[in-house]
Amino acid sequence: MRKFDFVVIGSGIAGLSFALKAAPHGRVAIVTKRQGADSNTAWAQGGVACVTSNEDSFDLHIRDTIEAGAGLCDPLVVETVVKEGPDRVRELMEMGLHFDERDVAGHRELDLGREGGHSKRRVLHVHDLTGYEIEKTLLRTVRESPEIELFENHMAVDLITAAKLGFATEDHCLGVYVLDEKSGLVETIRTDRLVLATGGCGKVYLYTTNPAVATGDGVAMAWRAGAIVANMEFIQFHPTCLFHPQATSFLISEAVRGEGGVVRNSKGEDFTRRADPRGSLAPRDVVARAIDAEMKRTGAKCVFLDITQQSREFLQERFPHIYETCLRYGIDMAKEPIPVVPAAHYQCGGIKTNLDGATSLPGLYAIGEVASTGLHGANRLASNSLLEGLVFAHRAANALIKSQPPAHPAGAVSLPEWKSGDAQDVDELVVIYHNWDEIRRLMWDYVGIVRTDKRLQRASARLRNLQREIQEFYWNFRITVDLLELRNLATTAALIVDSALSRKESRGLHFTMDYPLMGGKSFRGDTLLSHG
Ligand SMILES: Cc1cc2nc3c(=O)[nH]c(=O)nc-3n(C[C@H](O)[C@H](O)[C@H](O)COP(=O)(O)OP(=O)(O)OC[C@H]3O[C@@H](n4cnc5c(N)ncnc54)[C@H](O)[C@@H]3O)c2cc1C
Repeated sequence: MRKFDFVVIGSGIAGLSFALKAAPHGRVAIVTKRQGADSNTAWAQGGVACVTSNEDSFDLHIRDTIEAGAGLCDPLVVETVVKEGPDRVRELMEMGLHFDERDVAGHRELDLGREGGHSKRRVLHVHDLTGYEIEKTLLRTVRESPEIELFENHMAVDLITAAKLGFATEDHCLGVYVLDEKSGLVETIRTDRLVLATGGCGKVYLYTTNPAVATGDGVAMAWRAGAIVANMEFIQFHPTCLFHPQATSFLISEAVRGEGGVVRNSKGEDFTRRADPRGSLAPRDVVARAIDAEMKRTGAKCVFLDITQQSREFLQERFPHIYETCLRYGIDMAKEPIPVVPAAHYQCGGIKTNLDGATSLPGLYAIGEVASTGLHGANRLASNSLLEGLVFAHRAANALIKSQPPAHPAGAVSLPEWKSGDAQDVDELVVIYHNWDEIRRLMWDYVGIVRTDKRLQRASARLRNLQREIQEFYWNFRITVDLLELRNLATTAALIVDSALSRKESRGLHFTMDYPLMGGKSFRGDTLLSHG
């Protein structure tokens, strides 16, 4: 059994930032299931929303965030993130991250991007590779920190809690079981300060902008450990994912629309204006729904994002990654519109936390996309999530540094080792892949951008059956990454469906044809799921 003062699961912006803040105060382990850089963070293109310009203000950023959140943002959380954001961003810059700048009247200033729902230009970026550069900077700093041990290719399996072990104390998180993917052995890690920073769950859906690691592991583990989960019905679908048979999961950043890109149908019509006078720059849910409706109405397989009014030089300079990737797939964005479809992008809900990232289970914290902090409400404002990851990593570290480990018997005794008993190797991998595909397709077909009670109930019934089958597999066979991810995917999918079924109104990202209008005051609360 290994012991650490702090253990963080996940090596995206939230996990790495937390580790760096905690390191001066004790030994830190970062557990991450693939290579260090495999994360949603590394794929972020647009940038970090942050008030840095004289033409902008905290009040405007707060107002835009709350407006996007459709009545469910926690105003105190919004204010905290917006106001603490600039200091956290400055720390990133001090680590060596250079955001793009431009010349203004003879002096250099930050080049601020504009995205949907923002009333001002306020998105700091490094070309269209912002997340990649942030991840690189943080990982380099982590690798230089002797107090931090980075366990790559180690997958957290389940949390160890006092209740699971039958201790007669208040429930508390005591550690985590971790699968070493190379040896196939499960290790026990003991800690009183465990932080989940496992990111989102895009892989629950057939079409997603997320990388393969986004399988909802953190939410599923916290749920099994008894923590409260909130607002899982609010899944953000990004309106513009590249539509090409070989390019699954390639995002065309919202910043392209911020620079004048217009979504058109095959006749060249700017159809999103029919849904909202802001047209292509309306918030993501509005644009995604308008695209979904247009595709359903016309039977089209995709729509088109037209930025041909910008010069080739501008596109190459501002969007080098998108420009090159499109060209690789035979699309010259300077001359022709880019074929796009909506895809699952961001999990607004997650493990319910307070303003420091503490969950309802003592000793367990959650930060970044896996958490439901109250910042996003029913819809995330573009580029607010990297900022949230930075601010909550800092706040959680401060809170945990000050916290006193609880007095419980596990302080003195060892935790039990993982038992595989006489479990066999999985005999038919096809079952895992089949169930995986089935979940992703049913979520896309029945729990997508536009929902109905009937479709949700159908999804719920299918998922219960699948969960039973997967559970049998879990107990009878030796665990593998694929099996664990499938189990987590099924749990997360079921939590999304249960949350969606319990919200009998349309709000933000949750749109149902059975209740197409936003409900009154009594609906203005979080959807909370708990075992109790
Ligand atoms: C294509 C794309 C573009 C985006 N663009 C922007 C943008 O411009 N601005 C913005 O603010 N946001 C953007 N987002 C959202 C943003 O990138 C994420 O919300 C944010 O990076 C999440 O950070 P995180 O640290 O919470 O999680 P992640 O960066 O996803 O990191 C999660 C980590 O947890 C690890 N992990 C997961 N499960 C386990 C397990 N069981 N055991 C061990 N390790 C595990 C993963 O391997 C990974 O290292 C974008 C997202 C995508 C997909």
